[in-house]
Amino acid sequence: MKIQSVRGMNDIGIEDSPLWRYIESHAKKVFDAYGFVELRTPVLESTALFKRGVGEATDIVEKEMYTFEDRNGESLSLRPEGTAATVRAVLENSWLRANPVLKLFYIAPMFRHERPQKGRYRQFYQLGVEMFGPAGARADIEVLALQYLLFNNLGLQDVELRLSSVGCETCRPEYKKMLVEILTPQKDHLCEDCQRRLETNPMRILDCKVEGCKKIAKNLPAMVDHLCEICEPHFNEVRDGLVALEIPFKVDPSIVRGLDYYNRTAFEFVCTSEKLGAQATISGGGRYDKLVEDLGGPATPAVGFAAGIERLTILLEEVKDKLKTYVDICFINADEAGKVKTLQLCQMLRSRGIRAEMDLDNKSFKAQMKRANKLEARYVMILGQSEIDNNVAILKNMETGEQEDILLTQIEQELKDRFPKSVNFKL
Ligand SMILES: [Zn+2]
Ligand SMILES: [Zn+2]
Repeated sequence: MKIQSVRGMNDIGIEDSPLWRYIESHAKKVFDAYGFVELRTPVLESTALFKRGVGEATDIVEKEMYTFEDRNGESLSLRPEGTAATVRAVLENSWLRANPVLKLFYIAPMFRHERPQKGRYRQFYQLGVEMFGPAGARADIEVLALQYLLFNNLGLQDVELRLSSVGCETCRPEYKKMLVEILTPQKDHLCEDCQRRLETNPMRILDCKVEGCKKIAKNLPAMVDHLCEICEPHFNEVRDGLVALEIPFKVDPSIVRGLDYYNRTAFEFVCTSEKLGAQATISGGGRYDKLVEDLGGPATPAVGFAAGIERLTILLEEVKDKLKTYVDICFINADEAGKVKTLQLCQMLRSRGIRAEMDLDNKSFKAQMKRANKLEARYVMILGQSEIDNNVAILKNMETGEQEDILLTQIEQELKDRFPKSVNFKL
């Protein structure tokens, strides 16, 4: 019997990895420009971290985590999201002491035991940032502007920012009370989950996907209209900043985020085209000023986002064909004498980052030419005893068909002139 991969866990194969590299390299450039430093945390953490940092009563912790006892009987979990582990690492390494503004990014696999569907897998990848320290709205604006720039640089179309505020511990309880007062008489018209949410977390009713609940939610008062004297100017400053940067957005009161630790700014970037179907969210995040304290650290404001890389790859499907890797030059051995020369020239060019190929298997001249064509080499050069004797080789441009004589004594310089630098991705 052939052993197969685990359900919901995929190989990122040779057809797809160029697109993943395209996304990740763009992301790293943008993270660099905004001064975010990479953090790599282990995939395994104590289960207790996620119970406290994500919330014991959340679906993620209750139903979706990969949790097991290791050989010492300690309960460990594969991380289901990036924020809790980031906060754990920040506290454990005492980075806050020397860094009043701490900016971290990650690109990493996460694990959730959900029903696999298109764009949603049990091992999935997220890229994201967490900024610790600043409480001001300009930090929120920075995190939003970063995402906007990244999605733009990637060439994503039909991306829209949905923005909201979920208030704070001052204004949120009163708002929740108001929701309960309005919703209790209509309780029977809510779905089963929302009837439960009415008791536990009434704000989650606002993002329920059930039609009946959506209809009711549409007519409810919005949190953004009931913010306190700290939350309201904060929200206004975020909006003004986005306007100043010409970043289009929609205020959307249904953005309440699934996790309980968010306060004030909450947002999602969504795709308005049909490509993702119901799974329209590309990235999401917000401000979470209480989480560091909840995990045993000093009171530290924080804001961040995470984006699913699988969904980005679905949206960037058309880019894939343009990312074809190609070979700069393929050397053909005409005979034994050519072999040493092609070996040396390949090494010289590769040391300069040029993608050069040569025969590896004593193939016939015809078979070597066939491979050069299959590799879509931009140039081909044939080398053998007669070229060495005459000190001249032919360099053929495979795109134009042009041929030129190159003096072998000057071949290094000639090739350097033609391949000034490495460009392995065409775009
Ligand atoms: Zn407030
Ligand atoms: Zn509902």
